[in-house]
Amino acid sequence: MIFPFKKGVIGYDYGQKTDYNARHLGVDWNTNFEDLPAPVRCKVINVVTGQEGGLTIWLQPIGETRIIRWLHLNKVYVKAGEIVNEGRIIVQSGNSGHRPETGAPYQPHTHEDHWKSKVTLNFGDTLNPHDYYKHMNPNVKIFRNGSTYIVGTEAISEEGLAQLLFQSGCQDLVTKEGKPDFAAVNKVTHAL
Ligand SMILES: [Zn+2]
Repeated sequence: MIFPFKKGVIGYDYGQKTDYNARHLGVDWNTNFEDLPAPVRCKVINVVTGQEGGLTIWLQPIGETRIIRWLHLNKVYVKAGEIVNEGRIIVQSGNSGHRPETGAPYQPHTHEDHWKSKVTLNFGDTLNPHDYYKHMNPNVKIFRNGSTYIVGTEAISEEGLAQLLFQSGCQDLVTKEGKPDFAAVNKVTHAL
């Protein structure tokens, strides 16, 4: 498995209250018009354009009922019905679609949500994307702060990041001065 979103969370995280919804259905990953690989071998089950979600791809990992959606894309390089291998570049992220509350454009990001088997837009039918990526390849890791999974460099300050790294057992990613060791962080991207 490949984790496609190495810069972490930029907007709402899974289950968070949003301006327009009691609980965010997925995760808003930090992406800026970049090519994204298929996380696993999967079937492209849909390519659609929605007013809010913009250009959207639906993926179903082979052998699973799970459906993964990526929203706000700029380009989709594959077609519905295709089977794509893990690691194949399938889309370019973007900022398509418009905010439901204001109609304004989004800042570039990729909204990802996971569904047990059907896309119902009910939170109860979603799965936590972070849980999925816990099982990804060993050079990509998530670190944990209490019950929250944090990806990559998501922190509002260097001190905050250093603290998160330390608390999650990643002391080797913190310098003697108590700062994040960015060279080391960049190498692993995550640690659980
Ligand atoms: Zn979102």
